[in-house]
Amino acid sequence: MVDGKTYVTSVFEKVKENNNHETEFLQAVQEVFDSLIPVFDKYPQYIEENLLERLVEPERIVTFRVPWVDDQGNVQVNRGYRVQFSSAIGPYKGGLRFHPSVNQSIVKFLGFEQIFKNSLTGQPIGGGKGGSNFDPKGKSDQEVMRFTQSFMTELQKYIGPDLDVPAGDIGVGGREIGYLFGQYKRLNGYQNGVLTGKGLSFGGSLTRTEATGYGAVYFAQEMLAAKNDCVKDKTAIVSGSGNVAIYATEKLQELGAKVLAVSDSSGYVYDGDGINLETLKDIKEVKRERIVKYTEKHPNAVFTPTEQGHIWEIKADLAFPCATQNKISEEDAKKLVSNGVIAVTEGANMPSTLEAITVFQEANVLFGPAKAANAGGVAVSALEMAQNSGRTQWTFEEVDTKLKAIMTSIYKNASSAAKEFGQEGNLVVGANIAGFLKVAQAMSSQGIV
Ligand code: GLU
Repeated sequence: MVDGKTYVTSVFEKVKENNNHETEFLQAVQEVFDSLIPVFDKYPQYIEENLLERLVEPERIVTFRVPWVDDQGNVQVNRGYRVQFSSAIGPYKGGLRFHPSVNQSIVKFLGFEQIFKNSLTGQPIGGGKGGSNFDPKGKSDQEVMRFTQSFMTELQKYIGPDLDVPAGDIGVGGREIGYLFGQYKRLNGYQNGVLTGKGLSFGGSLTRTEATGYGAVYFAQEMLAAKNDCVKDKTAIVSGSGNVAIYATEKLQELGAKVLAVSDSSGYVYDGDGINLETLKDIKEVKRERIVKYTEKHPNAVFTPTEQGHIWEIKADLAFPCATQNKISEEDAKKLVSNGVIAVTEGANMPSTLEAITVFQEANVLFGPAKAANAGGVAVSALEMAQNSGRTQWTFEEVDTKLKAIMTSIYKNASSAAKEFGQEGNLVVGANIAGFLKVAQAMSSQGIV
């Protein structure tokens, strides 16, 4: 029987060979595989069952044509995806991303991460992800609706409340979920558990909107508490200005931290008085405008376009990357470290490159990996599914209390797995192992499927 390292390395070689153009997918796989070597040494039966090679191959991927007509009467065509990665511990669960960068590598990396993240929440949900290369930026509500209805007309064949339950991700918020739900209902009848992130008037859960951002801050609180430290009176930078960034900012401010900067793809704003949340919400949630608009209301704030500088050059105690993948390079990480950052908490999926993570770990910066730190969103999605099944609705406080408990237990499980496998304090390894073990046990019990 080969040892863990030989086994994991040989599976990774095959994955590279079979998916050699899928760079983001390979990056996500490499990060997980590196962590799992000691697990296979401890449980050689998983090698015998070739569990890793099975897990890294999605159960199913569907890609489909999404034709729609724009406001000028032109026929547009986009590509839709759903990757149903693993149903070992529950129905496929994960968001839909609408962004021009979406391709098979992106949905596969997101779907792969989702397996472990969902497992870490302790909820019975498998891993999936989907989306389209559609760009909602600059589109009218009517265009978004026509595109979304066309997308759902095809997607509805593959999803269902006990089969696969999509939700939002970048470019898919309350408006899009509403349209998606409406089209699903028109085709299949009312089944409120088929999507999460729904509006409160048709089966949505209180706290779902806030959950990813709040959860990331709860996770940071746990990391800091383990060092007898806390969020109060800290300075923070939060990249992004979407749903995750907005509610991370809200919770940080509520806990007494000062958020100095937020960003979007055009650049970042720095406000030495602390970011004004009301203005930020108005620009991004209501008007859907660019972040530079912030300076119109707050003339003391400074806007720096992306070509002229990065948000990571700002000196702050806490960093919350909440935009998108690979936005913290090795250089950015070195800058953050030299500026004395205490903790980096990933609100986005895979926002730090593998090299950046190494920089943080070598500098002993507290590092909360995405799978663990941003699991609050999907955790509350699972709570939304539970409420839908029970035909009930919990209060904001009830859901928030459950969210907090879930984030605490994710932190505890990740840190104790890291300790058990000889890498105390390494939450990347801990989260990967803790997430993997439950999935592995389920797969092992279910035979070669
Ligand atoms: N897109 C979110 C994530 O990355 C949420 C998924 C969901 O709620 O299903 O976890």
